[in-house]
Amino acid sequence: MSVDGVCVISSCNTPVLRFAKLVSAWLFCALAIHVSAIGPVKADTSTVPAQVTEIAPGVFVHTGKHELFTPHNAGDVSNSGFIIGSEAVAVVDTGGSRAAGLALKAAIRARTKLPIKYVINTHMHPDHVFGNAAFVSDNPEFIGHYKLANALAARKEQYLQANKPLLGDAFEGVEVIAPARSIRGVEILDLGNRKLRVEAHATAHTDNDLTVKDEQTATMFMGDLLFSGHIPVVDGSIKGWLALMDRLAAEKLTRVVPGHGPPSMPWPDALVPQKRYLQSLVTQIRDYIERGVPLSKAAREIGVDEKQAWLLFDDFNARNVSAAFAELEWE
Ligand SMILES: [Zn+2]
Repeated sequence: MSVDGVCVISSCNTPVLRFAKLVSAWLFCALAIHVSAIGPVKADTSTVPAQVTEIAPGVFVHTGKHELFTPHNAGDVSNSGFIIGSEAVAVVDTGGSRAAGLALKAAIRARTKLPIKYVINTHMHPDHVFGNAAFVSDNPEFIGHYKLANALAARKEQYLQANKPLLGDAFEGVEVIAPARSIRGVEILDLGNRKLRVEAHATAHTDNDLTVKDEQTATMFMGDLLFSGHIPVVDGSIKGWLALMDRLAAEKLTRVVPGHGPPSMPWPDALVPQKRYLQSLVTQIRDYIERGVPLSKAAREIGVDEKQAWLLFDDFNARNVSAAFAELEWE
């Protein structure tokens, strides 16, 4: 997850809804993260390399903890990875702190001296982008969805303020770095005898979700379009997400890397639990709306049948219901 700093307060509807959204957004922000911290920066050489697994030749993944941000986990609560070509390296997500990013970079440097040409962010959430600062000295091209820059600009201050106390010392050196190169549709990146297919998607988990597919091994980094173990978090469109899942399920992939959960998951079976949960929310919320049940009651009751299936359920389910309720109320 993520302390996916969801700080969106969308154009509101009823006063009750507006209040619920404000509370929801505040809670989310309180869980969230970020922006540039001041202080001395540790030398890269002192960094312990992140643990990574080579899930396919030249494709490495670090698996973050299923936790919210704490000083103890130092923002290491999401998956990140890197892909090594014959001429260059691409990083996919950078972890939830500069320290997490430095650890990932140390893992790269333990394996190759090739230049880090691209740093790709799968979406805006702090646990996926706060480590970007660790790579600035490598002068890579920072890459993201064409809506990522605006999304980060809108939430930057909230992310930084809310997450500074959560990360404690690990907030040191955190910066919000927007992509220099924006992806619209599909683009191909070349690492030397190795091509990455980077695709920007319509609104789903967020409005700036990006997938990265290593064509050579048919391995796709899904970002938070796929959660495993960690409860899915809705910060975009639950209907859009379900629709996108149907489309992605048709992709011919050997394995996928979720944003949270074990790497190297089989495809499309990996989608089953997440689809079940999100579809269940939609079905129940539509029923509550039809019966005129208020959001406050819906947020307490809907989804509880899934509680045992997910980690961090209590941290995100009610917020998911609130977000989806607002979307489905105006169908
Ligand atoms: Zn996320």
